[in-house]
Amino acid sequence: MYKYDPKSLCADEFINHEEILKSLEWADEHKSDRELAQSLIEKAKELKGLTHREASLLLACDIPEINEQIFSLAEQIKKDFYGNRIVMFAPLYLSNYCVNGCLYCPYHLKNKHIPRKKLTQEEVRREVIALQDMGHKRLAIEAGEDPVNNPIEYILECIKTIYSVHHRNGDIRRVNVNIAATTVEEYKMLKDAGIGTYILFQETYHKESYLTLHPTGPKHDYNYHTEAMDRAMEGGIDDVGLGVLFGLDKYRYEFVGLLMHAEHLEAVHGVGPHTISFPRVKRADDINPDDFDNGISDDIFAKIIACCRVCVPYTGMIISTRESGDCRERVLKYGISQISGGSKTSVGGYCDDSQSEASTEQSEDHAVQTASGAERSEVSTEQNEASTEQFDVSDKRSLDEVVRWLMEIGYIPSFCTACYREGRTGDRFMSLCKSGQIQNCCHPNALMTLKEYLVDYAGNGTREIGERLIESELANIPSDKVRETVIERLGLIEEGKRDFRF
Ligand code: SF4
Repeated sequence: MYKYDPKSLCADEFINHEEILKSLEWADEHKSDRELAQSLIEKAKELKGLTHREASLLLACDIPEINEQIFSLAEQIKKDFYGNRIVMFAPLYLSNYCVNGCLYCPYHLKNKHIPRKKLTQEEVRREVIALQDMGHKRLAIEAGEDPVNNPIEYILECIKTIYSVHHRNGDIRRVNVNIAATTVEEYKMLKDAGIGTYILFQETYHKESYLTLHPTGPKHDYNYHTEAMDRAMEGGIDDVGLGVLFGLDKYRYEFVGLLMHAEHLEAVHGVGPHTISFPRVKRADDINPDDFDNGISDDIFAKIIACCRVCVPYTGMIISTRESGDCRERVLKYGISQISGGSKTSVGGYCDDSQSEASTEQSEDHAVQTASGAERSEVSTEQNEASTEQFDVSDKRSLDEVVRWLMEIGYIPSFCTACYREGRTGDRFMSLCKSGQIQNCCHPNALMTLKEYLVDYAGNGTREIGERLIESELANIPSDKVRETVIERLGLIEEGKRDFRF
């Protein structure tokens, strides 16, 4: 008899291997049971989510009509809770020093091919100016795990620097943090520094694989890593972001583990994950994705995302520029609510990029997986020039191109950071979602922050499309009073005022 207990604080009990196997077995037995699958779809329509076992069945289901229903329900839920807004962010790589030995990441300690770099505060400032000049307001900072080179004091100093930079009309209003699992005391320090979400990817929930994939370094400790979100919440961080690296182990196993983790957070802390990210293993310096034989197709990837949307309806879902524009377009429909744009995931990449554009050709970006379970992607180095072709499958467009593209395919790019700044984090954010007030709050905020982007940073074509979009979207604000306020504030933004929010 095994012990599975979502309320336990021991990783082996809230992500229980036997319970995952039993769930997968049960899903296999029932994957063609139309009546059961239909009843789960009906249950999911109540928007209270599904259990990991139920979710596992939907993911395994091989009945085409049921699968169509899963996709259309995911689309409906996405529309009901997130409307057509897509929140924009960018990763900022602070340091690629790392003492871990993760087999899928080029920052692993033994990799001597890549230059190691850590930004000085002046370099952080320059990166932030480059990001502000693109139009970004929300960052996810990334760093490898290295207590000597990247101690918590360094991370805190960087956060302070980031928030202190105000270039022209720019400012970074939310800093999410993706650093290695740490102590309650250090999470408290991050909380006090005013971070948004603490993000930590599990990589894989399969303990045995995890131990093999992390042979050396502090990250080898599966339980310490898996229990990190509990310590983060104990340290006062309300919003935490989960994610697995699809391709390392069997996707169905990972999916059940992910949902069990969400159930655990809800059971213990009364609030599930703020976000779930969906990275897939990619080629990188020193890394060949073919070495991991659990890669998933775009179709499976889309189904995972749709099932997730249906099973955890209130959780934000993130996809990065590691995926191609086509892939991103497909999954935006089924539940993705946040995407990165114009990302440079090398340490110092934003300044490198503007310098290289200003001069001549210089270096291309290269696929590299990085940072403590972080958004893995590209590093500019001459050494890995040979891997550039891997970017054929990733989204290398500028932020302005991504913003324009989103609007052309019917979305509102949003630079909103209001919830966290208004104290609507954790369960307060979830209450907003559940109350259906998003349309009177997030929607107007999206329009006002888009307007700021259009006035300050957009190219001509983008601005025209954006102005038309805002005009037509005003009609979708239900409250007359809110609509009038938004119209007034849009005028004030045009005159140079900034940072309005509901
Ligand atoms: S995934 Fe993170 S912890 Fe592992 S080697 Fe890369 S940067 Fe280091």
